[in-house]
Amino acid sequence: MRHRYLLPLYVCALSWLFFSVVYAKEELTREEVMDERMRYYLQFESITTPWYFLAAIDQFERNIQQVRNDIPKRDGPIAIQFSEEFWAGAQNPESLDTSPESITYFGGNGLDGDADGIADPDNPNDILYTMATYLSLYGETEEDFKLALWDYYMREETVNQIMTIAMMYKHFESLDLDEHAFPIPTNYNYSYRGTWGASRGWGGRRIHEGTDLFAGYGTPVRSTSYGVIEIMGWNEFGGWRVGIRDSHNTYHYFAHLSSFNKDLKVGDIVEPRTIVGYVGSSGYGKEGTSGKFPPHLHYGMYKYNGRTEWSFDPYPSLRVWERQDKQRK
Ligand SMILES: [Zn+2]
Repeated sequence: MRHRYLLPLYVCALSWLFFSVVYAKEELTREEVMDERMRYYLQFESITTPWYFLAAIDQFERNIQQVRNDIPKRDGPIAIQFSEEFWAGAQNPESLDTSPESITYFGGNGLDGDADGIADPDNPNDILYTMATYLSLYGETEEDFKLALWDYYMREETVNQIMTIAMMYKHFESLDLDEHAFPIPTNYNYSYRGTWGASRGWGGRRIHEGTDLFAGYGTPVRSTSYGVIEIMGWNEFGGWRVGIRDSHNTYHYFAHLSSFNKDLKVGDIVEPRTIVGYVGSSGYGKEGTSGKFPPHLHYGMYKYNGRTEWSFDPYPSLRVWERQDKQRK
């Protein structure tokens, strides 16, 4: 009899053990994964292809795999995936060819990066050697890299997103740029609600897309992530606004500012908590219009999937960052 009562206990203990092992492994791997990726990039960097070019393409591909259903998610350290035509050659009757000789014969780009005699599009060494070789055909400047990206992806927004990631990696010499911050210092007075989809609200990039954070004139507005300033200026609805693109294909939009941080300009690299401007009520009119609504920060988030960019609700992220900033204090 007693055994019958013990069985669920064993099951519980076993599943607890299982999940804690899996969880502990996840905990451990974050830094290890970054280190492993960096080792791969450094192994295949060259004078013409610095590590951050390879890393930026890889990160971009990882980003789009997370939000696209039409392309598989790649496990393993390197996310880059090639089309069969690019790898094996458009005229190759064997679309999944892994023979370096016949791939070269049919004009494919797939290469054997670790000298095992196989050009395997799932092998990190072969992937990076192939990409590094492709990039090196274009030259060593950032303009050359841009041209290589343009020929490969044929999309201006994609080239821009990858260049943004590359410039961030180059600047910070790190892949770990995931930290975030609440846009308003939490010791200031402010209020905001989850109003996604509400018809009332001010100043999305198109319709009302974002969260309005009400605060007094002059309250500092800070970058919520690492990123590059993409836009800084006037817009009819947004007023004085700043757009920042990060390394996760996310575009952060800050509108209705009373003024900017004068030390910043388009192309500058920012960190979480870098002050980009100050809360105001600018917008809804010609340049300089102000005071048509109560002062607030309009904050929007947009995700680029390699084809289109769409807005998503920033409210859940804001709640997380707010809590983290309060705990940090
Ligand atoms: Zn708004």
